Amino acid sequence: MLGTLRSIVQEVNSARDLPEALGIIVSRVQDAMNTEVCSVYLLDPVSNRYILMATEGLHKKAVGKVSLAHSEGLVGLVGSREEPINLEDAPSHPRYRYFPETGEERFRSFLGVPIIHHRRVLGVLVVQQRQAARNFDEGEEAFLVTVSAQLAGVIAHSEATGAISGLSLTGEEARDVSFSGVPGAPGVAIGSGVVVFPPADLDAVPEKPTDDPDNELAAFNEAVTAVREDIQKVAERLSDKLRPEEQALFDVYLRMLGEDALPGEVANRIRGEGQWAQGALKQVVNQYVRHFEMMDDHYLRERAVDIRDLGRRILSHLQEGDTREVNFPERTVLVSEEITPAMLGEVPRGRLVGLVSVRGSSNSHVAILARAMGVPTVMGLVDIPVNQLDGKDLIVDGFEGQIFASPSPELRAFYQEICDEEAELFRGLEALRDKPSITTDGHRVSLLVNTGLMTDVVRSLSHGAEGIGLYRTEVPFMIKERFPSEQEQREYYREQLEAFAPNPVTMRTLDIGGDKALSYFPINEENPFLGWRGIRISLDHPEIFLVQVRAMLKASEGFNNLQIMLPMISNISEVEESLHLIYRVYHEVREEGYQINMPRVGVMIEVPAAVYQVRELAERVDFLSVGSNDLTQYLLAVDRNNPRVAQLYHSYHPAVLQALVRIAQDAHSVGKPVTICGELAGDPGGALLLMAMGYDALSMNAASLPKVKSVIRSVSREWAAQLLEDVLLLDSPHVIKSCVDLALRNAGFARYLRPGRTTVPVTTFESSQ
Ligand code: PEP
Ligand code: MG
Repeated sequence: MLGTLRSIVQEVNSARDLPEALGIIVSRVQDAMNTEVCSVYLLDPVSNRYILMATEGLHKKAVGKVSLAHSEGLVGLVGSREEPINLEDAPSHPRYRYFPETGEERFRSFLGVPIIHHRRVLGVLVVQQRQAARNFDEGEEAFLVTVSAQLAGVIAHSEATGAISGLSLTGEEARDVSFSGVPGAPGVAIGSGVVVFPPADLDAVPEKPTDDPDNELAAFNEAVTAVREDIQKVAERLSDKLRPEEQALFDVYLRMLGEDALPGEVANRIRGEGQWAQGALKQVVNQYVRHFEMMDDHYLRERAVDIRDLGRRILSHLQEGDTREVNFPERTVLVSEEITPAMLGEVPRGRLVGLVSVRGSSNSHVAILARAMGVPTVMGLVDIPVNQLDGKDLIVDGFEGQIFASPSPELRAFYQEICDEEAELFRGLEALRDKPSITTDGHRVSLLVNTGLMTDVVRSLSHGAEGIGLYRTEVPFMIKERFPSEQEQREYYREQLEAFAPNPVTMRTLDIGGDKALSYFPINEENPFLGWRGIRISLDHPEIFLVQVRAMLKASEGFNNLQIMLPMISNISEVEESLHLIYRVYHEVREEGYQINMPRVGVMIEVPAAVYQVRELAERVDFLSVGSNDLTQYLLAVDRNNPRVAQLYHSYHPAVLQALVRIAQDAHSVGKPVTICGELAGDPGGALLLMAMGYDALSMNAASLPKVKSVIRSVSREWAAQLLEDVLLLDSPHVIKSCVDLALRNAGFARYLRPGRTTVPVTTFESSQ
């Protein structure tokens, strides 16, 4: 059965569109189960009806015509119960519905299983049999459930593809179709999609027509020649080191690159179908790969890997020779499988209005960067067909985590109004720039910023920040192609220190690992968030840590506003070892003649173990700063980067709030200041709770600072303390969030909350969350 299942899934994956995929499903399942009828009904989000989309055994003319209301008939029953229904005599069931068009009266036994993708019912897969005596047994039921679970993702993806092209399941025009992901950075952007893809990734290559096939063909032939030469060279170089069967592999490669093999087919697609070379290559390689993967012979199946490798090599040559510049329109919405900081840098200044990333979640580092830059962002749109968004008009709703493709004028106007309101709100807040952050009853709380790029510094100054609470030093490391030298680091650091002097600038030592990768220092781990991260890497590589600390200390000469902060501390010994290295560098730098003071050193509390050792840690350093992003992830065991569990990532979780209260109390009990630099500090409601807990300073992205300041200036500390007391009695994160939102609303800050869901009727495709 497993073999049958695998080949069905592979065939369905290779289908060009949804009807072809569904046709394959019904015919293969009918065959495999040896049943008279197999049909698939999909729930059309536009009409909210189950539509018969494909069948083997019922009258084909009923396809697309027969439909049932959401809870009508046995199909509706399977969908609403969200579990299989297996009946020996379907017509005698009270929910049985009869459609003469299908010729269904002849069939008696019925087995229907729901097709569910991440909690959303997409449709129902049904098998039927004429004889009542033929009861579908448990094994068959389990088989159909397995098929349906495997196919749900493929169907969700194909549905999304159709919707982006503007077609609903019935082929009618679908307007304002939206796709739901995870909010990345708040705000609304209206612009044109530009899809960027990482190099030499065949899956990420968009399919698009060319108007110059000769040119595409010439580029392709050049790339094939280059790959052929590469392979010949490698084969010659290794000739005396390889066994004959390994040598033969190179001959296989070269044969595949022969005129009538892969290159011939790619050429046909360029000429015949007018595809550009990269798209044609992708299509042919995928077709070969599928063909090999379906083979029963293990050796032949493995050859799929070789084809993929060859495809990547040709693609890499094609992309090298591709001098076409990406054209970034005035209002660019950057779309990618995975947005990287380097991609952000490629968009000309002032043109980037929105971001859409297939991977990642609201606390991924690219989302944090986007918030710092004030660019509305949606993350985790897992099932969206990225390549079809290129050149499309898009609306990015970073409040709700939704995007809309090809919006209607009404929807556009609706969102334009929200954009205008936001702009007006910010203009109003500019007046607060030089006002102190103080409550109505005189309690002061410092508002600091989190930075990474120099643009953050400029924005922070114009928003009235009182210093830097977190400078993520890994950001300048991430946009380089090698480790920056001591001198280069000194320059980055000096810019930050100078911009805020004499106010404090807290520089965190390198925090790579987890989801922050350096292309030139790859770390491959099964479980990167529990692996080699932050201070662990720094202590294992003192040559990197010492250079960084030296650059920081030298950069601070003349300003003396440097504070050094250590990330991911989970053991006292890590603090002691780090302090030892910092003292050593301090003395050496002074001996070199630099006039510097010993910087204040602090520790981040972002690992649950550290929460229980706050006092011991605080006694050894000058300050503590809570990294609530990681602390939430580790306390709740929810990967901050995984959109599938984004619903469970909640900084208002009672356990997180209890931990935050405890940290502030324990730090103060040994007389040490405590700040917070996780994203919770930039949430107006979160900021009020943190202030009430006694946090001495809140550090946040520059874009959030004016809102937080205006909220703090409008309430008394007593009011915030009462709110904290109330929410600490609650046991659900959602109820706590609603309670805080309500308090903000009552205090006149409704506009700081996410605007309510659009009242414009839209069709939503949930992404995998
Ligand atoms: C945090 O974890 O809250 C934090 C501020 O650090 P980062 O988001 O860079 O991991
Ligand atoms: Mg962290």
